[in-house]
Amino acid sequence: MTSSPPPLLDRAEALCRKRGARLTPQRRQVLAIVCDAQRPIGAYEILAALRALVPGAAPPTVYRALEFLVQQGLVHRLETLHAFVGCAHPDEPHAGQFLICRTCGAVSELEDALVSRSVQAAAAATGFRTERPVVEISGRCARCSGGLP
Ligand SMILES: [Zn+2]
Ligand SMILES: [Zn+2]
Repeated sequence: MTSSPPPLLDRAEALCRKRGARLTPQRRQVLAIVCDAQRPIGAYEILAALRALVPGAAPPTVYRALEFLVQQGLVHRLETLHAFVGCAHPDEPHAGQFLICRTCGAVSELEDALVSRSVQAAAAATGFRTERPVVEISGRCARCSGGLP
C-alpha cells in the first residue's frame, strides 16, 4: 500500500508526544486500521488486518494497543457492538455519544458537552459514580430512515 497516512495519524502522534505517551509503530498501525475502517471494527478484524502487515501478530498486541488508544482518547470503545471507532477530536478528552444505525451500521459521534454533563449530574444525584459515561443510541440513520436524500 502506498497511500499516504491520513492526517489523523500525524495529529495522534503529535498529541501523544505532547502528553509524553509513546505511539509505538504497532499502536500506530492499529490506529490506522481502526481509522481506515470508516465503521466500527472488532478486535478480531483488527488482528486480521494487522497480521496482513505484521505476520504472526498476537491478540495481546492488539488488546494492549487498543487499551492505549482508548486511554489516549484516540479510539472509542463501543460496548454494544464490541467494536472500536476512531475519534475525530482526540485533543479534548470526552466520553462522547454515539448514534448507531441498526440498518447500515454507520456510527456518528455527537459531542454534546451538555448531554455529558446532564448524564453525569443525574447519575451523581443517585450517588452513582460514573466511570465511562459513554452514551450509545441505537436507531436508524437519516439515509436509512429516508429522512434525508
Ligand atoms: Zn470522540
Ligand atoms: Zn443507516
